[in-house]
Amino acid sequence: MNDQTPVIQLKGIGEKTQKLLEKLEIRSVGDLIRHFPRDYETFGEPVMIDAAKPGEVEAVRVCVAGIPNLKKVRGLTILNVTVRDASGGMSLTFYNMPYLKSVLRTGGFYIFRGLVQTRGRSKLMEQPRLYSETDYREKMRFIQPRYGLTKGLTNQTLQKAVKQALTYYEFQPEPYPDWILSDYALASEKEALCDMHFPEDRASLLKARKRAVFDEFFTFLFFLQKNKDLTKKVPNEYPMEEVAAAEAFRNALPFGLTGAQRRVWEEIKADLKGPCCMNRLIQGDVGSGKTIVAVLALLLCVSSGYQGALMAPTEVLAAQHFETLTDYTARYGLPFRPVLLVGSMTAGEKRKAYESIRSGEANLVIGTHALIQEKVVYHSLALVVTDEQHRFGVKQRERLAEKGHLPHVLVMSATPIPRTLALILYGDLQISVIDELPSNRKPIKNCVVNTSYRPKAYEFIARQVSEGRQAYVICPMVEEGELEDCENVADYAGKLRAALPDRIRVEYLHGKMKAGEKNRIMEEFSRGDIQVLVSTTVIEVGINVPNAAVMMVENAERFGLAQLHQLRGRVGRGEHQSYCIFISAKENRETMERLEILNHSNDGFYIASQDLKLRGPGDLFGIRQSGEFAFRTGDIYGDAPILQKAKEAVDRLLTLDPGLEAPEHALLAGRLAQNLENSIDFRSI
Ligand code: ADP
Ligand code: MG
Repeated sequence: MNDQTPVIQLKGIGEKTQKLLEKLEIRSVGDLIRHFPRDYETFGEPVMIDAAKPGEVEAVRVCVAGIPNLKKVRGLTILNVTVRDASGGMSLTFYNMPYLKSVLRTGGFYIFRGLVQTRGRSKLMEQPRLYSETDYREKMRFIQPRYGLTKGLTNQTLQKAVKQALTYYEFQPEPYPDWILSDYALASEKEALCDMHFPEDRASLLKARKRAVFDEFFTFLFFLQKNKDLTKKVPNEYPMEEVAAAEAFRNALPFGLTGAQRRVWEEIKADLKGPCCMNRLIQGDVGSGKTIVAVLALLLCVSSGYQGALMAPTEVLAAQHFETLTDYTARYGLPFRPVLLVGSMTAGEKRKAYESIRSGEANLVIGTHALIQEKVVYHSLALVVTDEQHRFGVKQRERLAEKGHLPHVLVMSATPIPRTLALILYGDLQISVIDELPSNRKPIKNCVVNTSYRPKAYEFIARQVSEGRQAYVICPMVEEGELEDCENVADYAGKLRAALPDRIRVEYLHGKMKAGEKNRIMEEFSRGDIQVLVSTTVIEVGINVPNAAVMMVENAERFGLAQLHQLRGRVGRGEHQSYCIFISAKENRETMERLEILNHSNDGFYIASQDLKLRGPGDLFGIRQSGEFAFRTGDIYGDAPILQKAKEAVDRLLTLDPGLEAPEHALLAGRLAQNLENSIDFRSI
């Protein structure tokens, strides 16, 4: 078996499972063995009842006290069992498992494992799993992988399939030269692939993970370096002089630019008028006002007689930018002739857009990555601005270069990272920082609460809506095998509708919705026709609805703080007092401590660094990190030391052998070329 072998050739995988796997983008054996577990389950030594932490999954070794009590409630059988150990007692509840009554002997010892909950002062578990001493010992010997799943597919099925695939897979020869493996203490590719799924122990898991993360970073940074070489000192083919229109617009705005915005605008102006092609990043926290600076740059571009383009990561965001810019054009008499270009437009609409772009009739093109596809021929494209989570990579630059000369590129990002990391991750760009918020902002009020606070939160939202405000609710995250994201959001919106007064319109948004539908919902929310928007994290990026004043996040404990901070950035964008409610299902001390950081800081850099400090490097599984650097395994904060090592390795390699021509680098060169061809995982390449 090799990377291309279809999964259906595995024993036990039929057409049905094949379809399910396809939903997870697993088609070949290669995909399967690179579908790394989402996290791992470890079976630790059972704990005493008084030490069992609420909110955690724990195992207890206990004695059944008294006679299990079986009752029937509306067709449901409920079995209640009281158990004890030397430290205290707790109660266990089992649903529809009446046979357990005869299995569990009063006075017998058992191990139960489940989520520890509290009711008043007493502890309980619902539906815990029962183990014999021997079974439990066996479980303790291994770390069990837990995969990202889809409805109908069990973890067990996936585990078996991966095990089989790893057994018959013909591993390719190790692509790294020996010096990389030894100097950076990396596991071999084969070891890493096996141990990511079925590690013997924690040490081998961490070593495997280190290799997987190193690979991602190495590939990314290698192409970043190529990108830099490609764009270094390219002459400015589109010198811009005409600044009057941009300055006039700046003066007409109802607010003055912040000092930071002014400084960044000066830097951009100098680039666009200067001798070399611009490749610049604007880094600024959410709400710092990056858009207006981009508009100024586009204005300079257009009034100098060229075309400009603004590229957003989603259609929703593209549509929003289109509206904002159309509105500015009319209100301030700007010379923009904007056109929208997104994937969901009909063939006819697209053709019209292409035509106006080709002829130069449109001088400002706003859209998603559709705007750099082959069919688009530009008349005189001189500046491309990309907004949020959208790196502009080698392939994209090449594509544009094929269309003419290399345009200036301006990238906007809200990812809060310290300067040392920024220099590595944006190695191909000049960096401008907007480190100041507009002065009219009121600090957001935050609270971190448990799920029992939900009804109060709903009341609060209802009150805010009656005062004319709007709210976002980020839906609970889906547990494996439970529901699909989309069902979950629809479900939750239904419950929320029932809980809120009828006059409040609640709608929902999720990633699997058709683009047109998403745009419609978002437009209605922008206009205020929808008051409460329930959503997965798709709204995380860049949406600007200044009237929205409440952000409620369910399962806040399962997000990275940097991501929560991004979510919070959707409110507090106007003059209204805004609120953020983080609901946490876990009440343990670490979770609360982590979320507390958000509670007392609104500073993205500070939050990201504190999150890292608290979590420590071993604790990276199970927390979803945010988007722009969406590496599959690596985390730019937690794995910063590996990132630095990977950077060093790339630099050494390229100094040693810039063209990767040495025989010992041939395999690596082949692998990198293959990765570029497949555009691998991160959007960035
Ligand atoms: P982000 O940096 O997150 O992309 P935006 O550019 O969307 O932020 O700006 C957020 C809001 O702040 C917008 O409504 C924008 O008009 C407003 N804004 C931008 N700059 C200023 C300023 N200097 N003073 C007041 N409001 C501003
Ligand atoms: Mg923005």
